[in-house]
Amino acid sequence: MIYDKAMDASPGRFEVIQLSEFTTWGIGGPSASIAVNSPDELIQTVELLSIRSIPWVVMGRGSNTLAPTEGWHGVVIFLRGAFSEFSFDGSVISAGAGAHLPGLAGTACSRGLTGLVFAVGIPGTVGGALFMNAGAYGSSISDFVEEVRVLRPDGSIDYLTSEGCGFGYRSSLFQKNGSIILGTVLKLSEGFRSGNELRREAREILQLRREKFPLHAPNAGSVFRRPDSGPPPGKLIEDCGLKGYRMGGAMVSTVHANFIENTGGATSSDVMNLIDHVVEKVRQASGITLKREIRQLGEEI
Ligand SMILES: Cc1cc2nc3c(=O)[nH]c(=O)nc-3n(C[C@H](O)[C@H](O)[C@H](O)COP(=O)(O)OP(=O)(O)OC[C@H]3O[C@@H](n4cnc5c(N)ncnc54)[C@H](O)[C@@H]3O)c2cc1C
Repeated sequence: MIYDKAMDASPGRFEVIQLSEFTTWGIGGPSASIAVNSPDELIQTVELLSIRSIPWVVMGRGSNTLAPTEGWHGVVIFLRGAFSEFSFDGSVISAGAGAHLPGLAGTACSRGLTGLVFAVGIPGTVGGALFMNAGAYGSSISDFVEEVRVLRPDGSIDYLTSEGCGFGYRSSLFQKNGSIILGTVLKLSEGFRSGNELRREAREILQLRREKFPLHAPNAGSVFRRPDSGPPPGKLIEDCGLKGYRMGGAMVSTVHANFIENTGGATSSDVMNLIDHVVEKVRQASGITLKREIRQLGEEI
């Protein structure tokens, strides 16, 4: 089996999962996995896997991830327990990397804290959001970062300022340096808007997203990044007549062309073939080469 080496590394420690159950695309075969509840457990796990030369990856809610249909030969690490918690001290939030971003953003709104309302419909974890520098409506999570706590590849724990995280548009240093995000401190603003006002705005955002995004079908949000200049990817793809275009079970959404829907039984190859087709058609029509926002499980940039 594809995951045998990982399972043999420490019998009884890892569990076999179907990645399709842990990604919003609903795609992905079997893999070894482990849920760790504390930094100590995480450090022990990474050490064990590194000694045995077994690849590993930290996954959040899989809402920006394409996992291979044939399965993965490494170990998927989930941050649970203490990593899922968050707490408030006035307008300052301490959050573990495994915390649910919409839950955190919704609680901040209810407390009358301004800043994170953009994130109420982004279905990932705090760690995934920092890794991707997730954002919407002109805001990104990096706008609110005071500190990010990481486990570096050499096994040491480090505390980074926002500048030290190298944030850019949907990018961060974490995409290049192999650090695991453990948690963060975010600073929001208080006293500008009431909890009621912010909750109303959150409901409006969620309604808007239900209208504009194909939330009826499994997807992973925007597939392509916005190019540096020119029209957004959705417009470029739509102008090529690709809305509704299918490869196997994967389809360019008819609701929003920058989304790819799993219409049922899509494989990771269906999605990648469709992505390649879209990139080529858009390049031929506009001269613009679209870059992927979504990530393949375990890929290094
Ligand atoms: C319906 C829908 C709407 C969306 N809307 C938006 C939007 O408006 N704006 C936006 O920016 N995104 C959006 N997304 C994409 C996605 O939700 C975000 O990128 C989110 O931040 C990913 O979080 P995640 O926990 O699911 O990450 P995952 O998909 O689990 O992981 C993404 C990457 O982060 C890495 N990673 C995760 N956690 C850690 C960690 N603790 N340490 C190191 N690396 C880690 C993973 O290895 C992987 O490479 C949307 C997705 C969906 C399905």
